[in-house]
Amino acid sequence: MIVYIHIPFCHRICPYCSFYKHTPGETNIPAFIQAIIKEARAADIKADTPITTLYLGGGTPSMLSPSHLTTLFDGLHDTLPLKNTHITLEANPATFGHAKAALFKELGVNRTSLGIQSFSPQLLKTLGREHNPDQAAEAVHTLRASGMEEINIDLMFSIPGQDLSDWQHSLDTATQLNPDHISAYNLTYEEDTPFFNSLQKGHYRDNESDNAEMFTLAHHSLTNAGFHHYETSNYAQPGKESQHNLDYWHGHDYLSFGPSAVSTINGKRWKNIPDTAHYIDAINTVGHAMSEAETIDADAFRIERIALLLRTTSGLPDHYLSKSPDGAVNQLLENNLAKHQDDHLLLINDGPMLVDAVAELLI
Ligand code: SF4
Repeated sequence: MIVYIHIPFCHRICPYCSFYKHTPGETNIPAFIQAIIKEARAADIKADTPITTLYLGGGTPSMLSPSHLTTLFDGLHDTLPLKNTHITLEANPATFGHAKAALFKELGVNRTSLGIQSFSPQLLKTLGREHNPDQAAEAVHTLRASGMEEINIDLMFSIPGQDLSDWQHSLDTATQLNPDHISAYNLTYEEDTPFFNSLQKGHYRDNESDNAEMFTLAHHSLTNAGFHHYETSNYAQPGKESQHNLDYWHGHDYLSFGPSAVSTINGKRWKNIPDTAHYIDAINTVGHAMSEAETIDADAFRIERIALLLRTTSGLPDHYLSKSPDGAVNQLLENNLAKHQDDHLLLINDGPMLVDAVAELLI
């Protein structure tokens, strides 16, 4: 079982972000934390169902105060069978120093994922980020000094105004900090964001060949620095892949708590209310905050696995291809976009850059 907790608070809102998040405003944070603990308790996860990974994302979980973090983790440790669980906390470099980093460790966090995105001051401004490059580097040193076992750095490419040398600088700075894992995401223009509006108005442009060049630069720089490319956007030092993400991609059941959080158990998927005040209220009055539910049948499960496992360098097991259109796989093999290996289909050459189109072809 893997568990996710959504902490929706951010100090300020980045103009490209489509997650459910908001500034804390008037939110009653102690009541929010109690609601999360209540939801976790109601899930009634038995001690014989090991929770392999717990991931706290958002939003910005690291902006919670030390006392709120302590209450939250104490409640989670009392409620969930967290034995040998790999616990990841997403953190913004501007939200913690030595004392808080030591607290993360004391509370059982063994992996911190840092939303750094870029080491260029100008591009951080474009992204509306709260931190500067020095704070980002300092955050890595602070976490290391606290004894944090694993550190991930999130980076982003194809940011408006970014050229290849900016991107190379971010990649080099990140690898010199020697993290255990680097995620290198292509910026996507999500509907209902200010960035999407700027794209629509022609102020920004989304160019496939620029994206491909940046992807290739990341691939070369990170693999040359010793990182293993194990998913389209993810690179790890040997043995430091994100277990939480691997389990998710492979279709393991997951339970999620918090506003907007999505869970999937035994083919049933549901989403919590994407509104923090209503979430707290629903947990306290009706005992759950489910707002939508659907059934994931075998076909929907197959389609999701094709979309997600094709992104991994271990590939898509052949049995998911049994319903693919005739000739689709051969077309990929003939165009040198994919190869077969150990009963899996693996994308090669330009294949990883075309992963969404390839998935569509195979579905
Ligand atoms: S800090 Fe993260 S979650 Fe918050 S607005 Fe920015 S990208 Fe979104």
